[in-house]
Amino acid sequence: MSSDVSAVDAVEIVGDAAKVNLLGMSQGRLEAFFESLGEKKFRATQVLKWVHQLGVTDFAQMTNISKALRERLADIAEVRIPEVIEQWDSTDGTRKFLIRVGGGNAIETVFIPDGERGTLCVSSQVGCSLDCSFCATGKQGFNRDLTSDEIIGQVWIAAKSFGQLQEGGARGDRKVTNVVLMGMGEPLLNFENVVEAMHLMMHDNCYGISKRRVTLSTSGVVPQLDRLGKYTDACLAISLHAPNDELRNQLVPINKKYPIAQLLASAKRYIEGLPDAHRKITIEYTLIDQVNDRIEHAHELVELLKDVPVKINLIPFNPFGLSNYKKVSNNALRRFQQILIDAGYTATVRTTRGDDIDAACGQLAGQVNDRTKRSQRYKLDQAALLATGNDIIPVKMVQ
Ligand code: SF4
Repeated sequence: MSSDVSAVDAVEIVGDAAKVNLLGMSQGRLEAFFESLGEKKFRATQVLKWVHQLGVTDFAQMTNISKALRERLADIAEVRIPEVIEQWDSTDGTRKFLIRVGGGNAIETVFIPDGERGTLCVSSQVGCSLDCSFCATGKQGFNRDLTSDEIIGQVWIAAKSFGQLQEGGARGDRKVTNVVLMGMGEPLLNFENVVEAMHLMMHDNCYGISKRRVTLSTSGVVPQLDRLGKYTDACLAISLHAPNDELRNQLVPINKKYPIAQLLASAKRYIEGLPDAHRKITIEYTLIDQVNDRIEHAHELVELLKDVPVKINLIPFNPFGLSNYKKVSNNALRRFQQILIDAGYTATVRTTRGDDIDAACGQLAGQVNDRTKRSQRYKLDQAALLATGNDIIPVKMVQ
């Protein structure tokens, strides 16, 4: 089923602009907020637990806070959760949310169950400015960064939908145990808001997700990656997708600014700076038929990563409109994986999940009120090609 985003254009109710939204405030910011009201800092802990552990957004129900303060909070503040426009459930248990974020925009968030593990793929921006050639989000252009409210709001919404936000936690067999910042957007281009939301995900007074279960994935914004270690010790994934700069420049254009050697050096510094040893960087490599799936690419990757502590996640490309890349063949996929394994790497293949609800990797689209006009250009290019009787957009293949 494809995402029906027409509902995004319906009337938007975005809360009271005069009130401060407490949803995305980290412990430190919330403590400062209460101190500015002449209140004690521990009020922050109380509110965090009500909101992020018990799912309570109405101050009137926060019964361990004095009535006078509850009434004052109701006057000046709110806990405003982004609105879910639609929710889809795949036959394989994957759940996708379409979430309204104002201005005609909507983002997508996907929950992927896998045994005991429940991974939530969270978006960090409305669209993306980076335009990776194999990515549906990139083709939609860019509108704006998400706020920390909107980022942590995705976790709240998913956890609430599984009954996780109540005394004693989830009763059912599904629960958010892991978060990956791999949805729409480049997280490091929205640094402050992403870091604040990550603090909430990992904080004991909130979701308490372990640092080994929260992963930030970047396509390679090196200056921001160099800052990251000062603010978090979460896991790191690198969207690599190519074993050399010539090919990566085409697939991941930010590579022209921050080439592979700089990116891997920065990633290595991050991982080696973490207090606990033996952490590995996850390398994401989307395999595209006849583009980056050849034997020589696998050998080149083996050589490239030989001094970096990594595990490799191979992702078969998921075709979507506006792209003429094709899915890798099973033979090429297994051959590529075997070369990596034979060289001593842990190399897994990401199973496609949520295909029937367009929730697979690289397919997240949402609704972007594109400020870059990129989506319009792609659609015009495609229409022009169709008018010539050709339904294929030419892509330069790297030899
Ligand atoms: S792969 Fe990531 S960084 Fe690249 S366009 Fe898509 S969302 Fe942006």
